[in-house]
Amino acid sequence: MGKIVIAGGGMCGMAAAMMLADDGHEVTVLERDAAPPPPDVGSAFDGWDRRSVAQFGLAHFLQPRGTSILKEQLPTAYELLSDNGGYHWNLVKFLLGLQPDASIGPDDDRFGLLTGRRSTLEWALATAANGHAGVTVRRGDAIAGVTTGTDVIPGVPHVTGLRLQTGEEVLGDIVIDATGRRSPTPDWLAAIGAVPPIEVAEDSGFAYYGRYFRSADGSVPPMMGPALAPYGTFSLLTLPADNGTWSVTLYGLSDDKDLRKFRDPEVHERVVRACPLQAHWLDGEPISEMKSMAGVVDRHRRFVVDGLPCATGLLSVGDASSSTNPSLGRGITLGFIHVELLRREIAKHFGDPAALALAFDEATENEMRPWHDATTTIDRRRVAEMRAELAGAPIESDPATQIANLLAAAGAQDAVCARTFGELSGCITLPADIFARPGLLDHIMSLAGKVSVEPLPGPDRSQLMELVS
Ligand SMILES: Cc1cc2nc3c(=O)[nH]c(=O)nc-3n(C[C@H](O)[C@H](O)[C@H](O)COP(=O)(O)OP(=O)(O)OC[C@H]3O[C@@H](n4cnc5c(N)ncnc54)[C@H](O)[C@@H]3O)c2cc1C
Repeated sequence: MGKIVIAGGGMCGMAAAMMLADDGHEVTVLERDAAPPPPDVGSAFDGWDRRSVAQFGLAHFLQPRGTSILKEQLPTAYELLSDNGGYHWNLVKFLLGLQPDASIGPDDDRFGLLTGRRSTLEWALATAANGHAGVTVRRGDAIAGVTTGTDVIPGVPHVTGLRLQTGEEVLGDIVIDATGRRSPTPDWLAAIGAVPPIEVAEDSGFAYYGRYFRSADGSVPPMMGPALAPYGTFSLLTLPADNGTWSVTLYGLSDDKDLRKFRDPEVHERVVRACPLQAHWLDGEPISEMKSMAGVVDRHRRFVVDGLPCATGLLSVGDASSSTNPSLGRGITLGFIHVELLRREIAKHFGDPAALALAFDEATENEMRPWHDATTTIDRRRVAEMRAELAGAPIESDPATQIANLLAAAGAQDAVCARTFGELSGCITLPADIFARPGLLDHIMSLAGKVSVEPLPGPDRSQLMELVS
């Protein structure tokens, strides 16, 4: 097979490297950060210098679809994660267990997930990649741009490799951009005279404030409410992680200045304590400083314009191509779905760069983009709710929102809703495919009035202002 060069050794760069090496390619990963993965997950959390990944210290969660890709296609990384304290959970089995009449079947295993702190997830992938046949990882290699050769499609630049800041060139049959949400690819393309990609980008509007905790006995707090809980003008995210750790994150609108006080650990604690379904998630030892992040952009880039690739020989994957805001915990899972598509299309079109560029674009638009768009729709809806709450205006609920709210609320009482919610939140089945099922919408709507869609118990805006003052 061929030589593949990957720019960026984060979650998707490492996943792509191992999958493509398994298909017989010789893969080189060029990663800017010099530090290799530490020997264990504890030191990865405490001291792995991943300065190029701004979200490294913030809450992360791996969804069921991401878990199944990890298990089936990256088994060494899956085993490392599982054997080193990764947290196994199954939301749907948990919800069905609350329903006296429901029975759990073997098919419900598809809702199982394995997760951990971001440092642990990345440690498992990077450690697996280190020993993986066919993969060479070079660290401390910052990439400055791409090299080009003879056009495959006249007038369309053909990328033949990566140029490091040292001036060294690393050539390959295919170059993959996995440099994350701050990918410089548009600049690299501009430098070779390529048509710019079509970019749709919007600031999700949220600012996040979170930290990690650990229990003394290796347990994680019991779920008494949703992992992602909306409370008027803020949301609270409580996510179990590996080795008896978990994260507690508050987020609100980044222009809601009062909420910037969430950065103060005492304020953070007061607000979480005022949420009775989640207050017990503070009952552990804080193991990280309060970390915050704003300006998180939902962005999708399309690298085929007017039927022609911007460049051949270069394919962008993961956050470099499509990134979403983190409240639904989907970024890695969507990135892994994208890497699977990349693997499939390279297997079909290796040796034909023009066909590969077009086929990967088509696969991305048809099979990945709908997840991106569904996620940004949910973000926009939540931003609108927060803005309405702030303005004291009524919250306008469209039919899609009503169905989503009913589905989420009914999951603990109705088996169909539990499984449907699991398929959606776990990125198992696309929303359009789920809601095309005959009778499903009628079933969900029939529960209106039977399940409570009341707001969760917690502080209203004026109580919140007292808590942050
Ligand atoms: C606050 C926050 C919380 C999140 N929470 C979740 C969550 O709960 N669940 C989830 O699934 N996703 C979450 N995400 C999204 C998730 O972090 C990303 O989707 C995921 O990291 C994307 O992987 P990637 O490989 O595309 O990019 P990254 O993991 O960012 O990796 C990019 C790599 O490229 C390297 N690089 C960059 N530029 C260069 C260069 N010029 N030369 C060489 N190397 C370079 C970087 O060093 C880095 O290693 C969250 C994101 C944020 C911002």
